Amino acid sequence: MNYLDESISLVAETDPEVAHSIQLELNRQRSNIELIASENIVSPAVLAAMGSVLTNKYAEGYPGNRYYGGCDFVDEIETLAIERAKKLFGAEHANVQPHSGAQANLAAYQAVLSPGDKVFGLSLAAGGHLTHGAPANASGKLYDFTQYGTDPDTGLIDYDLLAERVTDEKPKLVVAGASAYPRIIDFERIGRIAHDNGALFMVDMAHIAGLVASGDHPSPVPYADIVTTTTHKTLRGPRGGMILCRSEFSKKIDHAIFPGSQGGPLEHVIAGKAVCFREALAPEFKEYQHRIVRNSKALAESLLEKGFRLVTGGTDNHMSLIDLRPLGVTGIEMQHRLDSVRITANKNAVPNDSQKASVTSGLRVGTPAVTTRGFNEDDMCEIAELIYLTASRYYEKKDEIIERVKVLCDAHPIYG
Ligand SMILES: *Cc1c(COP(=O)(O)O)cnc(C)c1O
Repeated sequence: MNYLDESISLVAETDPEVAHSIQLELNRQRSNIELIASENIVSPAVLAAMGSVLTNKYAEGYPGNRYYGGCDFVDEIETLAIERAKKLFGAEHANVQPHSGAQANLAAYQAVLSPGDKVFGLSLAAGGHLTHGAPANASGKLYDFTQYGTDPDTGLIDYDLLAERVTDEKPKLVVAGASAYPRIIDFERIGRIAHDNGALFMVDMAHIAGLVASGDHPSPVPYADIVTTTTHKTLRGPRGGMILCRSEFSKKIDHAIFPGSQGGPLEHVIAGKAVCFREALAPEFKEYQHRIVRNSKALAESLLEKGFRLVTGGTDNHMSLIDLRPLGVTGIEMQHRLDSVRITANKNAVPNDSQKASVTSGLRVGTPAVTTRGFNEDDMCEIAELIYLTASRYYEKKDEIIERVKVLCDAHPIYG
């Protein structure tokens, strides 16, 4: 019996209902093509670390300075995670306790801002994240966020306009980073704009952390005062967050996480982060990230050949943003159709989108998870063809598409 079957059996002894749903989710992951750009498939070692007895331990505080006894071994683990994170990204300080990317961002703001302070962040419509000042998010309620955007014609960040507005409005902090931006972000340039105007500079590299670790995207660490990230996207670690910063901000950052905004750290997840960073420090990881980008470019090229329109005309990273308007199908309709043929992706707003956020005119597709499975550039060509058929001849071709998805998934099994 395989180790995943064994763990599901253990759950089933106590709780057959939950075990059944876990089994169905495992089956879904095995038999679906995962194109959600923020998702990945972790190694068995990361999975096992998260499922370990470390979940039993309370460890409020930091290694060597905890509020509870019995922390010797979790101290060792958290110290390994911190040292590896610093080495991987060349950072002066790392806090590995944020429970998620959103928690990391809110704590980073809390560390350097007071409520009402002026901040610049990339708008949600331009590919930014909710935690970069969206009105519905605590960031948008607590701080005076101004949203900057992309050029409506090119889809690229308008750096000149950003410089003008930062010069005029003199924010306390400029935030860069995105969830749906398919191009290299010029962190050096935005950092200069911020610092020249007396602002601090924070980068949220959640989506591209793996590409930064491998050099496939220029690192923000030399230019930013604070860098936040998730560990579960391209980085391929457990679901969680992390903050890197210059030494001068380390006390404020640590204090903003605990006791500022969190209680006990999730040491089982921190162990998963330590394992992930070790994997990311190995030479194979660089090659893996290069493959994610090669696959992404191959997918983009094949989509363009089929006549799809891509925001910015292509990709430099792990994702593409398809503008579905020329095909007359909405983002949500396309997401539903793809779900029905076992391809998972998400609707996404495109520049000048006239559809509401729950509908959209775009689709975001990314290659981290399929690359982890071993899909290559030829497979990307086939996926582009399947997306094309789903968009243009869905009702006639549905069964054939499902069959072709099965062939791809069977050729690249996961958790075997
Ligand atoms: C995914 C993401 C986050 C949030 O991460 P969660 O772990 O879901 O809270 C924050 N910022 C960016 C840019 C992201 O892409």
